[in-house]
Amino acid sequence: MIKKKKLALHWKILIGMLLGISYGLVAVNFDMETFTSDWIKPLGTIFINLLKLIAVPLILFSLVSGIANLKDISKLSRMGLKTVGIYLLTTFIAVSLGLFLVNIIDPGASFPQEDQHKFEERYGSEVSKKQQDASEVRGESPLQSLVDMVPSNLVSAMAENSRMLQVIFFAIFFGISIILLPEKTTEPVTRFFVGMNSVILKMIDLIMEVAPIGVFALLGSIIVELKGDSALFTSLALYGFTVILGLLLMIFVVYPIFLKIFTKIKYQDFYKGMAPAQLLALSTSSSAATLPVTMECCEKNLKVSREVTSFVLPIGATINMDGTSLYQAVAAVFIASAFGMDLNLGQQLTIVLTATLASIGSAAVPGAGIVMLVIVLTAIGVPTEGIALIFAVDRPLDMIRTVVNITGDSTIAAIIHRSEVRNGNII
Ligand code: ASP
Repeated sequence: MIKKKKLALHWKILIGMLLGISYGLVAVNFDMETFTSDWIKPLGTIFINLLKLIAVPLILFSLVSGIANLKDISKLSRMGLKTVGIYLLTTFIAVSLGLFLVNIIDPGASFPQEDQHKFEERYGSEVSKKQQDASEVRGESPLQSLVDMVPSNLVSAMAENSRMLQVIFFAIFFGISIILLPEKTTEPVTRFFVGMNSVILKMIDLIMEVAPIGVFALLGSIIVELKGDSALFTSLALYGFTVILGLLLMIFVVYPIFLKIFTKIKYQDFYKGMAPAQLLALSTSSSAATLPVTMECCEKNLKVSREVTSFVLPIGATINMDGTSLYQAVAAVFIASAFGMDLNLGQQLTIVLTATLASIGSAAVPGAGIVMLVIVLTAIGVPTEGIALIFAVDRPLDMIRTVVNITGDSTIAAIIHRSEVRNGNII
């Protein structure tokens, strides 16, 4: 009997996306907003919830089992330093690339002044919400982000997906303690974590079976929700183009150069292997929700060892956001220039610093980047109401920057894997 070949996951997701977009366009034309929000959107929400449900246990079990398997503290600190170092380097490259492009293209210069009021009127309430979120972050001590990393209670840290860094902190602390004890004592604990990790990975496999329906519903409802904004899109076309150009350069030039120099993976193989995760990032706009699939693709398709993926990727999803930082640099200069302000070198350097820090601090969820943008704007003295100008196009840009965020994480996972392997063994 001939076994029917199963369609690869990325094709199924792509078909789901195309059907979702087509549905959205039909729904917009036939005024099916209520039907969409009653019957289609909930399917997307269920899918995202399933992914988020798995994120915290995945981070906990994979990090603990990953660190326990390293069996050696010096290996952990070597890998940790390398990971954070390359993460900072790629973020720095992304911000600089964004600044370079926005200074050359200068999309803000052609922004029609009469449109400014239109945008401010339309997005006033959303802007004040984001400003408030950001001012909560800003009013804190400089050490607050360090304080926020250390949970006072594990259960409450795990209760909210936005506290991923606290779960990571606990997992690393717990993992280090396992390594420091004799293997005989910790063996049952390690076995438990490794076993739990496999169960979680199976759950991800099962969730991915419904991914095409999930992305269909997500994209279908996004198109219906964005419909009213399409007229405003046009004056923002050049800004959107600048961000997208930067993001594409990261995906098709910067990461392939890193892959070429530091790994043996051909970039066609890399993109074929990572396609399911990238398509999911595009549909969900959340690196946290995509994390389970990013890990699976890196392990199964790029053959990155689990030791590396379980350590590098959860941390990357939380702190390494190259796409977000590039976007923040472009947006900051665009808004300044739309307000007729020219930024000097000092201000541009401040953007490099604050966009790097702001992207580290951005939660891996939809729209987090625009909240942290408020902080970048404040640092360079640009009116924060300016985010009203870019609201209309933020969602599509969020989708693409999330793809960059997870592509950056995976590239670095492949690099770390390569640097840790000698003669086919992890050293
Ligand atoms: N949505 C992005 C992410 O989850 C964050 C952002 O730029 O808003 O990676």
